[in-house]
Amino acid sequence: MSEYNRKINFGAGPAMLPLPVLEKIEEDLFNYKNTGMSVMEMSHRSAFFMEILTDTKNKLKKLMNIPDTYEILFLQGGATLQFSMIPANLVMENEKIGYVISGVFASKAFEAAGRYCNPINIADSTKDNFDYIPEIKNIPDDLKYIHITGNNTAIGTAYKDAPKTKVPLIADWSSAILGQEINVSDYALIYAGAQKNMGIAGLTVVIVKKDLILPAGKIGNRIPELLKYEKQIASDSMINTPPTFAIYVLSLLCDWISEMGGVSAIEKINQEKAQIIYDIIDAEDAYTSTINPKDRSIMNVTFNLKNEEMTKRFLSMADEEGFVGLKGYKLRGGIRASLYNAVTKEETMRLASFMKKVARDLK
Ligand SMILES: *Cc1c(COP(=O)(O)O)cnc(C)c1O
Repeated sequence: MSEYNRKINFGAGPAMLPLPVLEKIEEDLFNYKNTGMSVMEMSHRSAFFMEILTDTKNKLKKLMNIPDTYEILFLQGGATLQFSMIPANLVMENEKIGYVISGVFASKAFEAAGRYCNPINIADSTKDNFDYIPEIKNIPDDLKYIHITGNNTAIGTAYKDAPKTKVPLIADWSSAILGQEINVSDYALIYAGAQKNMGIAGLTVVIVKKDLILPAGKIGNRIPELLKYEKQIASDSMINTPPTFAIYVLSLLCDWISEMGGVSAIEKINQEKAQIIYDIIDAEDAYTSTINPKDRSIMNVTFNLKNEEMTKRFLSMADEEGFVGLKGYKLRGGIRASLYNAVTKEETMRLASFMKKVARDLK
């Protein structure tokens, strides 16, 4: 690693890419498969790019075991645009989607939905700073869907399993997709911005059960044609120019995950990495966590030091160590170590040794 003088980026996203993926990008950069150009410079209608698009879908389908009844869409606008696109494409204005308000992005999704449907707050941990995944208690019987955030990036909580309910689930899995196994059949729709665990910014992946999408005609003029799933499906995510380079990077990332043994093998490593850090948080007096232990995320590990001053010292020592991105989410403070797929176990162990040393120094 040191040959490139790289830092270890524990940031929440855009996040680190695996070194072999970066090296493959470099290898392909000036002349992709003898085309005489990079993927960035290539027509999205060219046979070479069409092959990348189809292959990437197939690779993702295989890695995540996506059934044939689902469509995979490569869109733009981030996970944030899906906060609006989802209700606009799945329900009519008077229909209800239940929202579990488990974090910062969950709140945003709930707020955005108000323009397109009747969003219902069905579980909420706002008053306790989102320290746990709130339990769904009362489900109104006319709910069409329930929206959850699988992994709460800013907070450091996550669902271990999809909540059991008869109402079809929609999940924002932006920060854990491809980092842990997700049973796609548990969901009507899964979406994720690519820049955390699926590559680079600019690409949003939507995996949606085909038969649940409202026909474009029924949706009418409340959203542009570009934002209608039915239209995107009909044109293979190519109504206009898709984020070509980001799709190509996802393709390389899928190859890398396969070489690592698939998502289950990656999840095992991610579990081990997270445990290394949680063990130190639990063992050292210098660190505290307010997160309900059973809801701990394996992707974003959050903790606090005794006070603001110590947090600052921790961060400045981390900086000297070549660690970046450890500052906690702005409204929450403290420390957040994002341990996405590209962060190796060895790098996680370096953070662990550092945390032990700092705990001694700050005594
Ligand atoms: C990062 C993130 C978002 C926002 O993603 P954008 O791609 O920036 O719109 C939404 N939800 C979750 C869970 C995230 O981690």
